[in-house]
Amino acid sequence: MSLQNIVSMLGIEDPVELDKLFEEAYETKLKYVGNKVYLRGLIEFSNICDKNCYYCGIRRDSSSVNRYEMSKQEAVEEGLWAFKNRYGSVVIQAGERTDRTFISTITEIIKELREKSDGWLGITLSLGEQERETYEEWFATGAHRYLLRVETTNKELYKKCHPQSQSFEKRVEALNILKETGYQVGTGVMIGLPGQTLEDLANDILFFKEFDIDMIGMGPYIVHSDTPFSKIRNLNKPEDNLVLGLKMIAATRLTLKDVNIASTTALQTLAPDGREMGLKAGANVIMPNVTETKYREFYSLYNDKPNTDENAETARVSLEKSIETIGETIGYEEWGDSPHFFKRTNA
Ligand code: SAH
Ligand code: SF4
Repeated sequence: MSLQNIVSMLGIEDPVELDKLFEEAYETKLKYVGNKVYLRGLIEFSNICDKNCYYCGIRRDSSSVNRYEMSKQEAVEEGLWAFKNRYGSVVIQAGERTDRTFISTITEIIKELREKSDGWLGITLSLGEQERETYEEWFATGAHRYLLRVETTNKELYKKCHPQSQSFEKRVEALNILKETGYQVGTGVMIGLPGQTLEDLANDILFFKEFDIDMIGMGPYIVHSDTPFSKIRNLNKPEDNLVLGLKMIAATRLTLKDVNIASTTALQTLAPDGREMGLKAGANVIMPNVTETKYREFYSLYNDKPNTDENAETARVSLEKSIETIGETIGYEEWGDSPHFFKRTNA
């Protein structure tokens, strides 16, 4: 798949051609990873963040957010809820912190979740850039997958999205360390960032391929009104970013074939059935929120995040129905690892 091929796919406007693209991606998904959707219960552990990404609603300098960190016990309970409901695994996500207290709390949560599920619950982390030793500590305790989005592979655009202290090179280095540590590594980008071109996005997909990535989590960029990026005029229309997000899923499936691709909450923010649309465009993972509802509104990466008042049980029932409606099944009690990881490591 060449850069030009991918750019053409991302540029499709004709509805008939677009349907063809999604169908082809769907066929590729069935062939390489099957029609099962894997669920990862998402625990939004804390919105306290040391970083200052210009697009993100929980960035360090945002004064409009009520900061929280749930207790260790709450995080474990949420994870065990996912386990009892036969979700194969959970994702622990939070703003970025690198202090010892934070590191140890996460280690204890991983340990307890592994013990209380007799080693059955898969644990994915999404806790930003950390020292090698930290990644190793969490891996040794039982986490086995890590999500760290590269956000964009256009270095100039990366600079426009982040303060000088946050570098693209450091981000890629962190991804390398995660791989060396033995994690299944996930990355992704935001789609429709101000100034981002189709060529940038095509290069992002080629980066996933070259980096030999196992899992992809990407979604449309959505404005948060209390961020530096909210001041930018002439942003893409949200509905255009939705379609572009779906095209990215399809083009990524067609290029990488055997990886896990998540259909993310940002798609659902732009359309109520956005995640199901993502599955039809080639994604095979959904991350239902299992965070206690009292915290959800504060984990505000962007405006209008859905399901802030819908509890995990109600969401489980309706998600199950909508997945059945589109003719797919849920991979209950399975880790649903990326087949690509085993090929990459000959495991
Ligand atoms: N702090 C960790 C994990 C939480 S943020 C980290 O940054 O890796 C998780 C993801 O949310 C980020 O990688 C980013 O891609 C996404 N995100 C942040 N602000 C967003 C916005 N305004 N629109 C869409 N996605 C956003
Ligand atoms: Fe913090 Fe992650 Fe938001 Fe950046 S994207 S400000 S690291 S929570």
